[in-house]
Parts: sequence; structure tokens; C-alpha cells
Amino acid sequence: MMPFHPYGSFPPGSPVKTKARKSSVTTFFNILLIEDEAEDARQIEEQLRKSQLRPFHLQRAASLGDGIKILKDSTEINVVLLDLFLPDSHGMKTFFELHKLFPQIPIIVLTGLMDINMGLQAVENGAQNFLEKTHLNEHLLDSSIRFAIARHKKTATLEQAISSAKIATFEYDPGSSHMKWSSAIHKMLGTDEAETVLSHLNEFMVWVNEEDQSKVDHALTEAIQAGYSSAQYIRLRHKDNQPVFASFRAEAEFDPFREQQVVVGLLQDMTDMQRMKSLIQEKELADRTAKLRQDFLARTSHEIRTPLNPILVLTKLLLASPVSDQQKEYLEAINSAGKTLLAVVNDILDLSKIEAGKIEFIEEPFSIPRAMQQIEDMMSSSAAEKGLSFLMDIDESLSQMILGDSVRLSQILLNLLSNGIKFTEKGHVGMYARQESRQGNTVKVRFTVFDSGIGIPASNLRSIFDSFNQAENSHDKRQLGTGLGLTIVKRLVQLQGGDVEVESEVNVGSKFSFTLEYKLAYTEEEAKQLSGVSSELNGKKILLAEDNPLNQLVTKKLLTDWGVELDIASHGKEAIEKLQRETYDLILMDIQMPVMDGLEATRVIRKHFPAHKAKIPIIAMTANAISGADNECTRAGMTDYVSKPIEITTLYHKLVRYSAKQPEQEKPTGQEGTIESDAPVTIVPSFEPMAKITHIDLSYLREVSNGDASIMKMAIEKYLETTPGYLENLHIQLRGLNYDGLRKAAHKLKSSLQFMGLNDLYHLALMVETSCKAEQNMEQLPIWVGQITEGISDSYPLLQSELESL
Ligand code: ADP
Repeated sequence: MMPFHPYGSFPPGSPVKTKARKSSVTTFFNILLIEDEAEDARQIEEQLRKSQLRPFHLQRAASLGDGIKILKDSTEINVVLLDLFLPDSHGMKTFFELHKLFPQIPIIVLTGLMDINMGLQAVENGAQNFLEKTHLNEHLLDSSIRFAIARHKKTATLEQAISSAKIATFEYDPGSSHMKWSSAIHKMLGTDEAETVLSHLNEFMVWVNEEDQSKVDHALTEAIQAGYSSAQYIRLRHKDNQPVFASFRAEAEFDPFREQQVVVGLLQDMTDMQRMKSLIQEKELADRTAKLRQDFLARTSHEIRTPLNPILVLTKLLLASPVSDQQKEYLEAINSAGKTLLAVVNDILDLSKIEAGKIEFIEEPFSIPRAMQQIEDMMSSSAAEKGLSFLMDIDESLSQMILGDSVRLSQILLNLLSNGIKFTEKGHVGMYARQESRQGNTVKVRFTVFDSGIGIPASNLRSIFDSFNQAENSHDKRQLGTGLGLTIVKRLVQLQGGDVEVESEVNVGSKFSFTLEYKLAYTEEEAKQLSGVSSELNGKKILLAEDNPLNQLVTKKLLTDWGVELDIASHGKEAIEKLQRETYDLILMDIQMPVMDGLEATRVIRKHFPAHKAKIPIIAMTANAISGADNECTRAGMTDYVSKPIEITTLYHKLVRYSAKQPEQEKPTGQEGTIESDAPVTIVPSFEPMAKITHIDLSYLREVSNGDASIMKMAIEKYLETTPGYLENLHIQLRGLNYDGLRKAAHKLKSSLQFMGLNDLYHLALMVETSCKAEQNMEQLPIWVGQITEGISDSYPLLQSELESL
């Protein structure tokens, strides 16, 4: 390389006279001259200096090799003046080599008078321009360089656009079938420009799918005959054998030089678009299939469940009738198989609800220890039946009430535990809950369910959460379920923001764990108060009337922590006896108790006790957290009520309030703890026959009609007139298994029963209504309807005589 004159930029106001030409194309000319003839180079330099190209910088190389070196070292050069005959390269080869290496740099080819054709050929193959050296002057040089730079910029942009649109262009000579493709075709096919020749139609056809070759022929013929072709969608073969989808179109042009028609056209790669289209189609199909599957599952499980309910009910009724031992055995087998089928169908329905996004989580205060305790109560006997010990442990720090969905938590834990019991033959099953973190008002809890069972092979650990999947580990195929349990568990956990983890070792055991985040139901301040540190209940004497030993235990713990002096009675009668002997600040009274229930006991206290004891505040504890419970409690003379499961803050506030003031000043509010109205209805299905109705209590009717006998009369007449119709409707709906109709019919009947003081019947109607709504306890419905029917027919003569006495 020979350094030529490195011209620096001419500073403004320099003595060199330069007319600063405003150019929108470029302001800087960095020129490389590749020319071996010193004289030619000198002349060109001279012309350049005379030209208007300002500012410019010129470098010179005397051979192609030197030129390439300079270009490799510098990114600044924006135009090359190239002599085709150099010591190390001759003719067109010089151009091709340089252009191939630096396609981004505009090249102006310098030719002698004799090789102008070569200049033209270079331009056809990508040179920006050519100049004949003997006729060179400063103007020609000036305009040619500016033109080369500007045109190159434009073509580069165009090429970039074409390349990103994945378009290859071609020229086709119909006479010779010769084709000339732009280099983009090689990108599209993955071929090497130097190796793969595509200069004839046949050579191109090699890459076109056989079935689509006629489409190419058709487009070319159409272009020749009609001037242009329609777009043809063809499949090509990529070098690595992958299909390439492209659109092919052509247009005819007249070539004035060759005086004949040529065809030009383009091939656009549509593979990405095609892929996206098929992805969209696949997704749509998958969505549609999933929806169809969900609908189908929901519909069929409903269809199966409907006849299953009467089967279960009738089996139970038959079991209750006199049958032989063998018949009993068969009936029990039917009953157990029916129950399993019902569980499976419920699982399917549950999952289809989850997948359809139809599941909702409620947020209500609950206690983790209490929820887990109830689960232990439910599961420990099935564990014991298999000779397994049931273990449970709960972090002390989790004793505070939290907000969340306790039903769903129980569903998850019960599912995992029943698997644990199912797949464990000896040893233990159990669960524990740990506080993983606590931040402000939020606590993160890790629940773990473990067993010492058969374990799950490592290869199956991932897939056991998939629907209908079962590990090949079960010894007892009779015990297999649907393979949906874990899927439901996982979805339920995920929908609450957690995830399930599993660890297992074959013949050692399994451990499933998940974390859930809950908000605390009350603040630290309230917690302190509730923990008894500053309890306003210190030294208060309270009588608890409660038959359930577990509830006794829990309430006792709570109340003694608050400093309450607690006495316990197991039923209403015992409470009355205790009150005869002792004085209390307040009575906390369960409603449903053996011997004498809470309502009856309250009535006795209010009516038969001396004034100072008769006025004692009585707070009911009711599992019937329903509108109407307050009426019932009020009518019996109770001061207020709290709902089970008991919300601790509400209980604390109510106890403080009523034990501090004179009872006669108090009116039941029923509003302090919002839980009363929001808590879910807990229905305890029962087969106990209902006692025959022998007495009618019209106190409620008297109360609402202000003792007006004519209104009471009218109400009773209305009841006697309308109830048979309502009842008939109830039967029709039940026979038709129309649960929504049954719900409405029960609802209608309910208020009539309430007015007539038929509280047991009212509750049965309420249970029918809520069960139909929640789609629970379906097998109980015929029994409840039967009991309602009997009760109502008992009520007719009684009410008739009430009517006569009014
Ligand atoms: P199902 O129990 O109804 O088959 P699940 O989804 O609850 O369905 O469980 C899927 C499979 O995972 C079970 O069939 C069983 O192979 C395996 N599995 C689940 N829990 C346990 C466990 N505690 N011990 C061993 N295997 C288990």
C-alpha cells in the first residue's frame, strides 16, 4: 500500500476556494482509489481537488490486495474508484472479488477507452457507475461520486427491506428459459451462491415441490400472455429439507436492448406467516377441544349424578327396611359402589368447573388449627381402620384467625390425606402446618401431608399431577381412583397463588407440600387484646352450654385465655340447674343440644327464673348462620347470637359488651360480626325421623300481626288454602329431578311454615332450598320432602282447630 495524499478536511473559511455546496445526500467524502498507474492516480487526484467534493479524504492503493486491506481496516470509506487492471487482478474478476467482499461499499469502475463494455457489465452486476479514464474531468468525477454514494444508500435501504421481507427477485428469458435470481434466493433456500447455480428454470424447479411446479409454469405463462400473473402459493425445499412456503408472482416487461419480452417477478417467503397461521389454528382447535371436553364432562357427570341420587336414596331406604343378611350385604355393596361413583363424578365436575374458571374462592375468617383438627377428626378413623397412626402438628404461631377459603383448604388436605391412607399399608400418615414467613398483615403457611406408604417412582413424579394419571405403583388395583385428585389439588393450590411440591421414595413414603398466603383476620393490637393481656373479660363468670366436647374444649381454651371464669353445661337442662345454684354474668348457649335445646332452655330461664337471673344475657351459638336464625333466637328470648364457626373477634366484643351492661338495655344487633350473614350454611344431613307435630305455636304470627285476630285468621286460611298446591309442586319438581324448580318450590313453602310457627318444617324446607342451590346432599332431598309432607299434614287439623278458637 502506498499512502497517497491524505487530504484533511478543509476548515470553513480556509484559503482554498470551495463553494460549500449544500448536499442532502452526504457531507463527507472518504474515497479509496485503487489504481496502480501513478500518472492516472495523479490526474484523478488533481481532478478531485478541483471538484466541489468538500471535505474529502483520499487514500490510494496500488493493488487489489492493498485496497482490500485498507477497506478491512477502515469503516470510514464511502466510495471506491476501482481500476480493473491491477498487478494482482485483471478485468471483471477484480470487480467481482471486491464487490463480493464489500457489498455495502459503492464502487465506481475506471475503464480505458477499449473496455467500456466491461464497465457496463460491472454496473449490471452491482457497480454504481463506471468512468472512462481518458475523458475524466472534475465535473464528471464530482457528479459520479455523489451519484454513486446516494444511489448506493438508496439501494441498500431497498435491499434491506427486501431482505427482511424475505423477497427474492428474478428475471426470466422466455426464449432461452434462462433465469437470473437476486442473492436473497440463496438465503431462502439455505444454499451457497457460489455452489448452487440457478441460472435456468430447470435448475430452479429442482427446489420446487413436484406438485407445485405446474404453478410456477402457470404464473410464467400467464405473465407472458396477460402481462402479469396471479400469486401462486408454492412449496419449496430448503437445503436442510424443511419446507419453505412462498408466494410466486411474475410480470412481463419489454427489454428495449434485447428487443424482446422478459419476465420479472418475485418470490416471497411466507413460512413464518404460515407457521403463525397454523399455530393460531392449532390454538383455536385446542381451545375448542378443551371447551367441548369441559362441556361434555360437565354434562355427562350431571347426567350420571342425577339418576345416581335416587339409587343411593332407595338403597339406603331398603337398608333401613327388614332385609335378609345376604340382601343387606348386596345392598351395602351397591351403596358403596354408588358412593364411589358419586365421588368420581363429583371429581370430574369439580375439575371441569376449575378448568372453565367457574370456581370462586371466598375470604372469611377461619382458624388453621381448627380446620386441621376437623380434618383429623374425619380422617383419623380411616387411618386407624388400616392400623396406621395419624400424626398432626401445627405451629403455635398459626393460632391467629386468618382470612381465606377454609373449605378449599380442607378439600386439598383431605384429598392428599386420603391418597396417603390409600397408598399406605403400615406406619403412619399425617400433616403439619408451618409458618414460612410473616410480613405485616400477611402470613405464608406451608402445609405438608406425608405418609410411610408405597411411594411413587421417580419417573412418575412429574406426571402424577396430570389429569387421569396414575403412577404404576399401586399394589391394589381395586383402590385406584380417577387420577383426578392430584390435578384438582394442584389447580386449587395454583388458583390461590401457590404450587404443590412432591418428594417420594418407593417403599419409604411420600411427602406433598404447598404454600398458601393468607391475610390475618385482625391486627396485632386486636390479637394482644384477644390473647388476654388486656382482656376486659378478666374475672367475668360465664356459663357455656354446649354438648360437643370438642367445641367445649376450644371455647374453654379461648375464654379462659381471656380471663373468664368458665362453667360448662352439656345440655339445656344442666344449664338451668347450674343457673339455679350459681350467678353468672352471661350464658353462651348452643342451640342444638340433647335433653333440652338452647331455645327451650332460654324460654325456661326467661319465664320461670327470678327477675335478676331471668334477665341474664344469653348469647346463642348457632351453626345455622342464616337469616331467620336471629328471629328464632330473639323469639326464644336470647340476647344475641354468634355463628359457628365462631369468629373470635366478634365473640370477644359481644362478650365484653353484654357482660358489662344491664341486659334489659340491650337489643340484639346481629350486626357486629358480618360473618353472621355471610357465613356458609352448614347442613348436617340427618336420617332421624322427625317427631310428630302435636302442637302449634302461633306466637310469631301473633307478634307480626300485632295480636290482631282477624289478620291471624286470614293468614291461617291462606295457609290452609295454598299449602297443598305448594306441596304438590314440591313433589312434582322432586319427581322430575328438577333441582332448580325444587329450590324455588321449597323457598315458597318456607315462609308459610315460618308464619305458622312450624320451625322444624321451616328448617327442612330451608335445607332443601340450600342443598338444591349448592348441589349437595341430593340423596337427602326425598327424605326431607317426605318429612315436610308428613309434618304439613299433621299441621292441618291443628291449625283448623286454632282457626276455630280465634
Ligand atoms: P387417584 O388417587 O384417584 O388415582 P390422584 O390424582 O389422587 O388420583 O393420584 C394420582 C396417582 O398418584 C395415584 O393413582 C397414585 O399412583 C399416585 N399417588 C398419589 N398420592 C400418592 C401417595 N401418597 N403415595 C403413593 N402414590 C400416590
